[in-house]
Amino acid sequence: MSYELTIEPLGQTIEVEDGQTILDAALRAGIYIPHACCHGLCATCKVQVTDGEVDHGEASTFALMDFEREEGKCLACCARLESDVVIEAEIEDDPDSLNLPIEDFSGEVVRIEDLTPTIKGIWLKLDRPMTFQAGQYVNLEVPALGQSRAFSLASAPQEANVVELNIRIVPGGQVTTWLHESLKVGDELKVTGPYGRFFVKKSANVPLIFMAGGSGLSSPKSMIEDLLAEGCELPMTLVYGQRSRDELYYDADFRALAEKHANFTYVPALSSEPEGSDWSGARGFVHEAAKAHFDNDFRGHKAYLCGPPAMIEACISTLMQGRLFERDIYMEKFFSAADASQQLKSPLFKNI
Ligand SMILES: Cc1cc2nc3c(=O)[nH]c(=O)nc-3n(C[C@H](O)[C@H](O)[C@H](O)COP(=O)(O)OP(=O)(O)OC[C@H]3O[C@@H](n4cnc5c(N)ncnc54)[C@H](O)[C@@H]3O)c2cc1C
Repeated sequence: MSYELTIEPLGQTIEVEDGQTILDAALRAGIYIPHACCHGLCATCKVQVTDGEVDHGEASTFALMDFEREEGKCLACCARLESDVVIEAEIEDDPDSLNLPIEDFSGEVVRIEDLTPTIKGIWLKLDRPMTFQAGQYVNLEVPALGQSRAFSLASAPQEANVVELNIRIVPGGQVTTWLHESLKVGDELKVTGPYGRFFVKKSANVPLIFMAGGSGLSSPKSMIEDLLAEGCELPMTLVYGQRSRDELYYDADFRALAEKHANFTYVPALSSEPEGSDWSGARGFVHEAAKAHFDNDFRGHKAYLCGPPAMIEACISTLMQGRLFERDIYMEKFFSAADASQQLKSPLFKNI
């Protein structure tokens, strides 16, 4: 059983399966409706139903109030069709988006490596190549748990058959603990993607700053490898923060890239490296290292931030004090289901 969903102002009509959400159907058709938490909590995906009936599913009464339901609003991430429906949505027209449809893949684990004491590299051979933009993420489903979680693609899009994920273990975390302790080479996982709007705005053609913390290195790694493989000559700087030297992974690879490419600069920064060790690089947090490296003046750059919410907030604040605007800053917050009910947008940003 399926219904037809017409999405205005595009005027495009797509099939929606019984039980499928509006958001899932749109993304699989390559139509991007802005969204964030995907759990009916944040209201980023609110759209207007102009014709037909929907079931609001698990939409929270805070994110979608009773009077909004009466006005015909719904949350695309939870709403399921009960008839043919027409919606009016704010469709973003981003010149740098390839608008790739989301698809399901099967991934065979072909390699597992300890990158640091808390981060594992996992390489998955997909049943067919996945076309993605560097910076995007996948949802990885662990059949043994019946649970899926978001992980950014760490490999460059040029390698579309075998994709790499860098996964940090979250103490007490269901999926990351299973992946760290039980996953074996030869296991099959379900991979859905590519998701997300975190990709390089290549059309802007200005110098780039990447700021990453912990396993947030995944997206910048993919983006930088992609840009350098394409022969991009714009100046680009990676400021990467970890606690200590044994947590600093791909360090030798980024140093080698910086040797090879005059336009690439690598600034690793350690926040808890023991005093007196032979570390001669920057000490402190990512935002502090970036502020010192750029002498508190980031003008003329686009910045790409990836990592835990607290790191991202500190970086936004530093970048704005150093004269970047909201329109120059892009980010992927590694939030979890528990964070999803909290504020997803930086309080420093005015626009949705
Ligand atoms: C778009 C996106 C991309 C992501 N990419 C990556 C990636 O490339 N690599 C990576 O390692 N992680 C990434 N994450 C984070 C990853 O999805 C979470 O770490 C994961 O959901 C945790 O799952 P879990 O089942 O182990 O923990 P859960 O069982 O879901 O959570 C257990 C407890 O840990 C807390 N928790 C969950 N995640 C975190 C966290 N990251 N930091 C601190 N506390 C947490 C929860 O609030 C909860 O209290 C990404 C997240 C998003 C939204």
